[in-house]
Amino acid sequence: MPETLDQSLKLIPNLDSLRGDSLVVTSPVDGAELAKLRVDSAAEVDGKIALSVKAFEAWRDVPAPRRGELVRLLGEKLRANKEDLARLVTLECGKILEEGRGEVQEMIDICDFAVGLSRQLYGLTIQSERPNHTMQENWLPLGPVGIISAFNFPVAVWAWNACLALVCGDSCIWKPSEKTPLTALACQALLDEVCQTFPEAPKGLSQVIVGTVEQGTQLVEDARVPLISATGSTRMGRAVGPKVAARFGRSLLELGGNNAIIVTESADLDIAIPSILFGSVGTAGQRCTSTRRVIVHESLVDEVFAKLSSAYLQIGESKVGSPLVAGTLVGPLIDGPAFEGMESALRAVESEAEAIVGGGRALESEFPNAFYAKPAVVKLKAQTPTIHTETFAPITYIIPYRTLEEALRIHNEVPQGLSSAIMTTDVRDAETFKRYSDCGIANVNIGTSGAEIGGAFGGEKETGGGRESGSDSWKAYMRRQTSTTYFGREKPALAQGIRFDV
Ligand code: NAD
Repeated sequence: MPETLDQSLKLIPNLDSLRGDSLVVTSPVDGAELAKLRVDSAAEVDGKIALSVKAFEAWRDVPAPRRGELVRLLGEKLRANKEDLARLVTLECGKILEEGRGEVQEMIDICDFAVGLSRQLYGLTIQSERPNHTMQENWLPLGPVGIISAFNFPVAVWAWNACLALVCGDSCIWKPSEKTPLTALACQALLDEVCQTFPEAPKGLSQVIVGTVEQGTQLVEDARVPLISATGSTRMGRAVGPKVAARFGRSLLELGGNNAIIVTESADLDIAIPSILFGSVGTAGQRCTSTRRVIVHESLVDEVFAKLSSAYLQIGESKVGSPLVAGTLVGPLIDGPAFEGMESALRAVESEAEAIVGGGRALESEFPNAFYAKPAVVKLKAQTPTIHTETFAPITYIIPYRTLEEALRIHNEVPQGLSSAIMTTDVRDAETFKRYSDCGIANVNIGTSGAEIGGAFGGEKETGGGRESGSDSWKAYMRRQTSTTYFGREKPALAQGIRFDV
C-alpha cells in the first residue's frame, strides 16, 4: 500500500505546503495515517471567498463555449490520471477500486456533458401582449458557488457541481469532507494544471477549503456566496438550509436516502436479485442511493429472503476485504462510528425481526484498525419506525406486502425521498409505481443505485429537494432574467392596458 499511496499522492504536488497537525487523514482500508493537514483559518476562508468573488467577475465575461473548453481540458486531464485518482479515492474512502474507477469515469462523463452544455445555455423568447415589444428570458452567471461534499462520493459530486458551475460562468469554492480532503486536493491540483495553460482562467477560479463543520459553516453563512450546494446527511442539511435561507441565499441540498425496491408477484428474480445485491451491499451500503428496504409480494418473500441470505453469507465469508484487491466486492466502512451505527441498528431491530442473517465485524485480526462488516439481511413482519432512519451500512430489510397500494404506502412512509425501484414484468404495476413513488428517482427493473449523469439527480422530502448533474440542473447555477424591449417609435403601451396619460 505505501507504493500505491506514494503514486497517488504525486497528484498533489503542493502537499508539503498543506501539511500541518490539525487534521489527521486516515485510510479506512487499514486505519493507517495518509497525511496530516492544516485546516484553513477563518481569515484564510475569508480570503478565499474574496478571491472567488474577483475570479467570478472575470470568468463571467469569458464566452460560455470557451468556458466549456476549460472543462474539456479538465476531462482530458482526468482521463490521463484516472487510475491514480481512482486509487486515491479507494485509499481515502474505502470503496473498491472498480467503483473508484467508476467514480472518476463519472467525473469524465460530466465534463463531456458540460462541454456540450456550454453551447446550449438556452433562454426563451416570449410572446408580448403589446405591439412592437420583444420579451426574452436570459440566463446569467450567478457568482461564487460553495460546494460541500460527503465522504462517500469524494470526487464525483464535486465534478457534478463544478463542471456545471464553470460552464455557467461561476467560480467555485469546495469544502470537502474532513474524511476525504486528499482526493479534493488532487482534483484541485489537476484543475490548477489545466488553468495554468488557459489564459482566460482567473486566479482562484476554483479553490479548496480544508476543514470541518466549522469551515463549512463559515462558507454557508457568507452572503458573498449566492449558492451553497451541500451533499451529506439530513442532519447537515437541517443546519445548512436555514442558515442559507436566513441570508436569502440559494441552497441545493442532496441529503440522505432510505431507498426501497418493490418486488412484485410478476418479478423476474434473475433480474431482481442481482439488482438488490449491488444496491444493498455494493459500496458497503455507503451510497445515498443504497437499497435499504426490499418490499416483497408475500408470495415471494420466503424465496427472496432465502436467496439473499445465501448470497449475503457467501459475500460475508469470501467477498469482504481490502478494496485494493481484485475480487473484493465489499470494502470497509469509513470508520469505527459507522460500524457502531450498523451494530446499533441491528440491535434496535432485533426484537421486531423474524430473522437476521449476516452482520458482525470481519477481518478484525488482519485489519485491527479498520472496520470491515459482513452484510446483514433482516426479515420483518412489517415496517416500523425503527427503520425510518438511514443507517449508512450494508443492512437490508425485507418487508412483505399484499397489494401494490400497500407496497406504495410502505414505500412512501419514510421521511426520505431519494431513489426507488420496482421489479415487475407487469406494465400496469410499473406505470402505477412511477406515478406514485414519492422519490426523485423511480426505476423499473433497475436497482436504486448507479445513476447516469444525464438525468437530474436528487430527491424529495428530507433528501432536500435539490437536483444536480444532468437534464436542466444547470439552471440552479445561473440567475434568470426576464427582459422586455420596445422597438416602436410611438409612445409605448403599458401592460394590462393601463392608461397613464400626462
Ligand atoms: P455529513 O453530513 O457528516 O458531512 C457532509 C459534509 O457536510 C462534510 O463536508 C461536512 O464537513 C459538512 N458539514 C456537516 N455539518 C455541517 C454544517 N452544520 N455546516 C456546514 N457543513 C457541514 O455526511 P457524510 O457522513 O460525509 O456522508 C454521508 C451522508 O451523505 C449520508 O447521509 C448520505 O446519504 C449523504 N449523501 C447524499 C448524497 C445525495 O446526493 N443525496 C450523496 C452522497 C451522500
